[in-house]
Amino acid sequence: MSHASQPIALVWHRTDLRLSDNAAVAAAAESARGQVAGIYVLPADPLEPARLGRGRFASPLDFPRASLRRTGFLLQAMEELRDEWHARGSALEVAQGDAGQRIAACARELGAREVHTAPCLAHDERQENSAVACALAPHGITLVVHDETTMIAASDSPFAIDELPDVFSSFRRAVEKGCSVRAPVAEPQVVSLPEALRRGARKRSDDVLAAPAFAAARKAASLVDARAPFACHGGRSHGLARIRRWFWETDRIARYKESRDGLVGPDFSSRLSPWLALGTLSPREVAAEIARYERERVSNESTYWLRFELLWRDYFHFWVRRWQGRAFKATGVLGRTPCGAQDCEAFARWREGRTGEPFVDAGMVELAATGQLSNRARQNVASWLARTAGVDWRLGAAWFESQLIDFDVGPNWGNWQYVAGVGNDPRNRTFDVRAQAERYDPDGRYRDLWGP
Ligand SMILES: Cc1cc2nc3c(=O)[nH]c(=O)nc-3n(C[C@H](O)[C@H](O)[C@H](O)COP(=O)(O)OP(=O)(O)OC[C@H]3O[C@@H](n4cnc5c(N)ncnc54)[C@H](O)[C@@H]3O)c2cc1C
Repeated sequence: MSHASQPIALVWHRTDLRLSDNAAVAAAAESARGQVAGIYVLPADPLEPARLGRGRFASPLDFPRASLRRTGFLLQAMEELRDEWHARGSALEVAQGDAGQRIAACARELGAREVHTAPCLAHDERQENSAVACALAPHGITLVVHDETTMIAASDSPFAIDELPDVFSSFRRAVEKGCSVRAPVAEPQVVSLPEALRRGARKRSDDVLAAPAFAAARKAASLVDARAPFACHGGRSHGLARIRRWFWETDRIARYKESRDGLVGPDFSSRLSPWLALGTLSPREVAAEIARYERERVSNESTYWLRFELLWRDYFHFWVRRWQGRAFKATGVLGRTPCGAQDCEAFARWREGRTGEPFVDAGMVELAATGQLSNRARQNVASWLARTAGVDWRLGAAWFESQLIDFDVGPNWGNWQYVAGVGNDPRNRTFDVRAQAERYDPDGRYRDLWGP
């Protein structure tokens, strides 16, 4: 039954854990004249096992789809978002279980007629949308899906999704020639909800979050390995602080092109990926900050290169939408036969940092200890597993998905296909990890920091 005098609109948050520059929040607020609230649905089993590839029928692996640390990082982001909704007089309901049932129950409780959402439209998210739309329809509630997780809006891209080029450079050239990045959308005015509704949502959320699995996840996210160069907290305020430091206080952005292949230390790259992956920061907000830096300080190859990397992110978001189920198939989007065997013993040695290859082992130890890994190290450990050891690349992609606090479906599975030679790398090369170690870790600092 509706408690509100006029319909509220509900925002189903997924990888958009922010109020500003959020298409779903803005549209919901516009349609309900500011009467909006949010919901986030956690999985029924936070330690649900990872699966080879994706989809319900793939065989389960012996580790969770999201590590406790990654879940803890998500909770940090969500709890800050909940406080933001509350500070504006509204509420974020944190629910758990079947998304359709939970969202329908919350929408009915609030008297909402519309639910707005903005996920990256990969295979699972699309299926989830259909299930939620079906659960809402009998109650006369509509699911409105917004298509906005990228820096270049999908509607501004020079390519329709099914015409996305197979090679990144063709995409980049066309975008750089004909597209500009839209300005971030301002946070809408939110109207206060009745106190009883807010209290009810808060109480239900607190009950969900009190589960022991979430306490363990919070603890895992707060433990920082003494060797870790960079402690990362999921909340948006921490992402904004990182921009302040890396752009404005240290000017490290102005040297990014030279430092980006670094392996040791906090500042060789932006380290913005964990906040971008959960959407506590939007790529347009980062692009706007790059443009401001270029106006106020310096515009050089490094500032260009950061935007260039954000375009890679866009490319893989469009890529995973284009290829749907094929993004998770062993044969990849090229339909090539990969070298991959499901050699569980070799995979276990790799993920525990026991391959005997010091550069690879250092990377795998860092990943397990921190949930973070530089791009250079990711390329090397991935190439070694998929091409040198000849193990099914999807095992590696599933392990990264479990461990990385910046896990993002398109960039992860797309980069894995690329490195494994079944995706979009026109060069199809294997990394010589010893030559790479000599070049990028000449004095062995990285190897010694994380090695046995
Ligand atoms: C096997 C493999 C798996 C990966 N899995 C992920 C993943 O799950 N999530 C993820 O965000 N990135 C992934 N990447 C891409 C890249 O390694 C990370 O984005 C980067 O290391 C994050 O650090 P940063 O924020 O300091 O990046 P910066 O170098 O500062 O780059 C700025 C931003 O550009 C984007 N970006 C940079 N490189 C890439 C790239 N190659 N592909 C797509 N986007 C990019 C990221 O959003 C990043 O935050 C993967 C790369 C490989 C080789």
